[in-house]
Amino acid sequence: MNQRGKFRMARIIDGKIIANDILTEIKQAVDRCTRPPHVVFIRVAEDPASVIYVNRKQKVAHEVGIRSTALAFPADVTSTELLKAIDKLNRDPEVDGILVQAPLPTEAMQRAAFLALDPQKDVDGFHPYNVGLLAQEDGRGFVPCTPAGILELIRSTGQDFTGRHAVILGRSSIVGKPMGMLLMQRKPWGNATVTFCHSKTRNIVHYTRGADLLVVAIGQPHFVTADMVKPGATVIDVGINRVPDPQRSKGYRVVGDVDFEHVQEVVDFITPVPGGVGPMTIAMLMKNTLLAYQRHAGC
Ligand code: NDP
Repeated sequence: MNQRGKFRMARIIDGKIIANDILTEIKQAVDRCTRPPHVVFIRVAEDPASVIYVNRKQKVAHEVGIRSTALAFPADVTSTELLKAIDKLNRDPEVDGILVQAPLPTEAMQRAAFLALDPQKDVDGFHPYNVGLLAQEDGRGFVPCTPAGILELIRSTGQDFTGRHAVILGRSSIVGKPMGMLLMQRKPWGNATVTFCHSKTRNIVHYTRGADLLVVAIGQPHFVTADMVKPGATVIDVGINRVPDPQRSKGYRVVGDVDFEHVQEVVDFITPVPGGVGPMTIAMLMKNTLLAYQRHAGC
């Protein structure tokens, strides 16, 4: 029995199905291109998660007919060498999109790499120019893939959060902040009243319990529990956390930032992990790559 005294479960927002629909449309558009759109992935050092992420993105790119190239640099690559490689890609007319897979060995190198990207090829939307366009509600930039994908998931529920309370846990530049900017925009699927929470927020439960829409991106396994959410809310779980699980062959399983099993008994809509936000992030990367190609080709 749930908090409303009834047996009920939330509707699960299936990111795989929604992503597949978007990828089908992208493939059809790619088939009409005069050459395949081309995205280049830059990876530094052998961070196992980065290797997995780039492989996954390349697999999906291949499936929709987008050409992809992965450039791997050793951990001791200098910033000068990395920026030289980015500059070459910026000037290559056969390259539509460039993605620098975070994290890089140092924060300084990461900032320098993002800044060196041609904003017109910045399909991840992390260049300060694109961040600025988003802040100004100017649609000519690239929107970061994860928040853009989350917006699609929210749209799929058919709910309108105009004037309602959206609470975002996490203030990173790649998820939390751009998510808030999108939800605040004076556009359809925006117009929410947005609150950001982070590790210094006092009495976080006060905010989460008041959220009509709760987006959780903090990287803390099962942080959000059933008593922290408002009955009938929509919960989007961005977290990807590996927790030890000796019963799995890999020795771990992936869980989100939300205690899905119990929270689903309280809320109306919820995303699972895996199979929620993750597939949407990749689908939106393909969408941005196609967009970059279309802008370059003028079609
Ligand atoms: P960051 O580490 O960059 O940011 C985490 C944010 O969470 C920070 O703002 C931090 O606060 C806040 N935070 C951490 N602990 C707490 C806490 N106990 N209470 C409140 N706030 C807290 O992470 P990302 O934004 O890059 O990623 C967040 C999660 O989303 C990760 O699990 C990541 O793997 C996942 N992710 C998933 C993607 C997908 O496609 N599904 C894509 C990108 C990320 P402060 O700023 O004060 O430090």
